[in-house]
Amino acid sequence: MSIRERVRAIFKELPSGVTLVAATKTRTVEEIQEAIEAGVKVIGENYVQEAAKKQMVLGRGVKWHCIGHLQTNKAEQAVRLFDLIQTLDSWKLAEELNKRAFKKGLILPVLVEVNSGREPQKSGVFPEDVLIFVEKLSRLSNLSVQGLMTMGPLTEKPEEVRPFFRLTKDIFTEIERKQIPGVKMQFLSMGMSDTWRIAVQEGANMVRIGTAIFGPRTTGQP
Ligand SMILES: *Cc1c(COP(=O)(O)O)cnc(C)c1O
Repeated sequence: MSIRERVRAIFKELPSGVTLVAATKTRTVEEIQEAIEAGVKVIGENYVQEAAKKQMVLGRGVKWHCIGHLQTNKAEQAVRLFDLIQTLDSWKLAEELNKRAFKKGLILPVLVEVNSGREPQKSGVFPEDVLIFVEKLSRLSNLSVQGLMTMGPLTEKPEEVRPFFRLTKDIFTEIERKQIPGVKMQFLSMGMSDTWRIAVQEGANMVRIGTAIFGPRTTGQP
């Protein structure tokens, strides 16, 4: 199957109201262009520099989301390049993004990344800390909290990640109920190529898919 056919097949199966984010790390602009021609409207990039290069060619007719871990020293570039940061995971990064967004006179949409598996080596806010973190973020003038994102642990069977998606959805609902001023819980970003169907069953309305669109990654780069 071609990229075009794979994108079409996913759109056919994806319930309406669920946003497809094409995870495009290491993919060429030609490959991404084919996905865009097949209807992809949101590009998820992991690295600032890679996003910058690709954006010069592909432009901003599509949305660009940051889905990789973001270092504080890349905040300025990130604010310039991305329409949404899905991986906000620390107060230090939040302050830096807020400062940069303020300087540019814009409000930056963000999702809080939840470390739903409480894995020490992974980034993301621990489940029990998410509500307080969101409350704190809501006081930053130039960030707009719009939901949550999670990866979940890398498991052997896709089904094993379900409880972590469910937990993240529960946190999402809890925060939604609090009606925190300035926080609009719109997006729950969960699920990748092997797990997006499970994620959608558990309430995801945004899925991040790479391999199932572009095929296995063959290049040695990150
Ligand atoms: C690479 C990546 C994906 C997509 O993973 P696939 O298994 O290739 O679909 C989703 N989310 C993040 C954060 C990624 O880095």
